[in-house]
Amino acid sequence: MTKVHLLQTGTVALGGAQLAARGQGVARLWNGLFGAGWSDFLPIYAYLIEHAEGLILVDTGETADVMQHGYFPHWHPYYLFSVKFDLKPHDEIGPQLRAAGFDPANVKTVVQTHLHTDHAGGLRYFPHAKILVTTREYQAARGAAGRIAGYPNNRWPDWFAPQLVDLPAQSDDLLAGSLPLTRDGAVRLIATPGHTLGHMSVSVDLGEKIVLLAGDVSYLQQTLLDLQPDGLGADPAAETQTHRRIQMLARKRPLVYLNGHDPDCARRLAALEPLL
Ligand SMILES: [Zn+2]
Repeated sequence: MTKVHLLQTGTVALGGAQLAARGQGVARLWNGLFGAGWSDFLPIYAYLIEHAEGLILVDTGETADVMQHGYFPHWHPYYLFSVKFDLKPHDEIGPQLRAAGFDPANVKTVVQTHLHTDHAGGLRYFPHAKILVTTREYQAARGAAGRIAGYPNNRWPDWFAPQLVDLPAQSDDLLAGSLPLTRDGAVRLIATPGHTLGHMSVSVDLGEKIVLLAGDVSYLQQTLLDLQPDGLGADPAAETQTHRRIQMLARKRPLVYLNGHDPDCARRLAALEPLL
């Protein structure tokens, strides 16, 4: 039987107005980077799908290496002013999988919703897995332009060469535009642009309910319900459109929304609580 497990790889606090946008255009980005205050320390989640065709991991969480001085480029404003991490080596995805009773070597497929550091920090545990990233995300994250955009691609494992995915053009029917990841079609890849342009999510059909593993589609379930984009996302209009489409799907079928940082996710998964 298909099952979804939640794994936590430490916590992150976001500075400024990142959880929900304040202002528009340049003001939004300024407030996102330099606005007053900090979020609470929020969990950094990854999800494991136990499926008859093998283990599928959605995101790889953060690495404890970020706690070392000099891990991130010292010139980058985001890492200087806008993010703080708290995790130890045993919080990384490898030990967390083992603690949950799974061998990282048995993970067959890794889906990266996107390549931000707190979602791709555990890649080194999966040298033999098939790793899926959208073409658009990989292009945005590579090279000097990627590093300026905040992707610490100099920290990727040497062997990292993801299998690139091109998802169909978006429509209001999210599932119609998705690609099956398993032969039975129960696990699917869905384009969910906004937070990054190449962001994707994973849907898991549990029969009566669908679980949507949504990365950073929104930081909180409530901001998705409020159609409120985040403070530093690549395309706030696309983000809101994605929120709207997820709500449309949730009106058709009970949908459990699980994302990367909402502290309520563990409870929602245990209860399989629908979004609407
Ligand atoms: Zn992100």
